[in-house]
Amino acid sequence: MANIEEYIPIVGQPIIDDLRLLAEKLKGKVIQQVNSTAVGGGVAEILSRMVPLLKELGIDTRWDVIKGGEQFFEVTKKIHNALHGRPEEITQQDFDIFMETSQKNIEALDIYGDIVFVHDPQPIALIKKRSGNKWIWRCHIDVSNPNQRVWGFLENFMTNYDSAVFSSPGFSQRLPIRQFLISPSIDPLSDKNRELPQEIIDSVLRKYNIKKDKPIITQISRFDRLKDPVGVIEAYKQVKKYFDCQLILAGGSAADDPESGHVLEEVKTRSGHDKDIHILLLPQDDIVVNALQRASDVIVQKSLKEGFGLTVAEALWKAKPVVASNVGGIPLQIKHKYSGLLCHSIDGASFAIKQFLANPGYAKKLGENGREHIRNNFLIMRHIREYMLLFLSLYHREDIIYL
Ligand code: UDP
Repeated sequence: MANIEEYIPIVGQPIIDDLRLLAEKLKGKVIQQVNSTAVGGGVAEILSRMVPLLKELGIDTRWDVIKGGEQFFEVTKKIHNALHGRPEEITQQDFDIFMETSQKNIEALDIYGDIVFVHDPQPIALIKKRSGNKWIWRCHIDVSNPNQRVWGFLENFMTNYDSAVFSSPGFSQRLPIRQFLISPSIDPLSDKNRELPQEIIDSVLRKYNIKKDKPIITQISRFDRLKDPVGVIEAYKQVKKYFDCQLILAGGSAADDPESGHVLEEVKTRSGHDKDIHILLLPQDDIVVNALQRASDVIVQKSLKEGFGLTVAEALWKAKPVVASNVGGIPLQIKHKYSGLLCHSIDGASFAIKQFLANPGYAKKLGENGREHIRNNFLIMRHIREYMLLFLSLYHREDIIYL
């Protein structure tokens, strides 16, 4: 893992000095991060980089994962979908299952943090264990239009936290606690994002039997309906009438996502026998994801809802032309026609992909702009700085913040 000094050439010395200064003020505090999966999905991705870097800055940071069975994660997936505004039938029995597992975690999990930083709805009920320490609830979900019943259920817990954090201004909600807007980030030096030698990229393509003989269009995402993989296939099919290209749909699964098997089946059915569609069930391997992104000519993220979309930041950092839906946190990253192309439909996605394939110079320029946009706004150093400011703010009166 890269040490802090190695980030200086990327973000500049003053930013690193600033981090050290803030870390000094947090010495002695223990930060306890809690989520529901150690691997898979954006939250685990961020924590796996954030925790070691905070430690290196001298802040005692630890990471715990709650436990849950299949039934619990089926319910939390329904909650996740409902918060994204998808119609879901959530019964009283579902809420009971949620509370039953929550209760077990409340009993089993040691709460030792001066600051307990809880991610997403799955562990939200841990707040019942509050005793004199500071609690933050971090929402990574696109809650611009949540199911009100589910939101109401979660609100009972949320309001007992000191503060809530959302990723995009469009997600803020009427709450009696302080809210912060902090967008996620990527680590430019992680295996997922660092520069790769061409031989590694080639060897990954060989491993998956992909030839570079025609343009590669790629979406890398969990097989989740909200990522609309079937919509990506439809868009590819429209593009294919004009450009001989190939499509990679690649994704692994997350321990807290039980839906992926069904979605994968739908994707296979829709892709039929087209040999230019590569459906890859990936192992947890950041180099593979990195190589596939780098090997691509166009990256797509056709989500129907998206908290932030780390895959968009990852692609832009690699200076790739990106076509992505105008939802959730994606427009923070893609300024239309400047750092990528936004779309609102299958037709829009296919039109944008065709634009890139027909104009390589334009595609290259937008990719380069995208990389600078990510450098200035969505790298992990900015994220760590904002989290440290948030931690410090918990110890000050609401109306005055001394730094
Ligand atoms: N990812 C991965 N392997 C996969 C699919 C996704 O490593 O097979 C990573 C992806 O590169 C990104 C994260 O998982 O870092 C997904 O984060 P995002 O915000 O895009 O979506 P989420 O899964 O959190 O909804």
